[in-house]
Amino acid sequence: MKIDLRSLLAGECRQLTIDYSMSPAYDENDASSALYMVRFTTPLSVKGEITNTAGYMRMTLSLSIDYVAPCARCLSDVCGSFSFDVEKTVVPEGLLANIKEGDEDDYAIVYDGFLDMDAELLELLELSFPSKMLCDEDCKGLCQKCGKNLNEGECSCDMTEIDPRMLPLKKLWEEMQTDQEANPDNQK
Ligand SMILES: [Zn+2]
Ligand SMILES: [Zn+2]
Repeated sequence: MKIDLRSLLAGECRQLTIDYSMSPAYDENDASSALYMVRFTTPLSVKGEITNTAGYMRMTLSLSIDYVAPCARCLSDVCGSFSFDVEKTVVPEGLLANIKEGDEDDYAIVYDGFLDMDAELLELLELSFPSKMLCDEDCKGLCQKCGKNLNEGECSCDMTEIDPRMLPLKKLWEEMQTDQEANPDNQK
């Protein structure tokens, strides 16, 4: 959405409330994206404000969205709500040259009195969304041999001998476990 900042820029008001929602456009079949196999069940809610303090404009936003994503171990649906915050200094286009190279991410640029953050907010959603969801910290995952969901009970497989056809899957599964240990932040 284009946010009209003209009254804020003209000094007619000190604060502007932001409250809207948008539907994220993304490719849930793109395996390289953090949103791979993720379904959003609500639009992305964007709430916050932009405050003008003697010409210095600061934007603070809280974003949230509900999702259904597959558990990284057992593939069952994990439902939840994901929230993140965004804070930026808002500057008119004319002051663009004053921004140090590399600091651009700290700024939201106003063009012709309007601010359009949507593309950037969607990018931030993708960047900050957890890449691996777990239905439970202790999820037992799927049997590497028969594929049974071990949270629903043991299977009768003899795990001392693994079907060679399942070996690539076993290797992948082991890599995923190591990954999770290396990045505990990604577990939830
Ligand atoms: Zn699970
Ligand atoms: Zn089994």
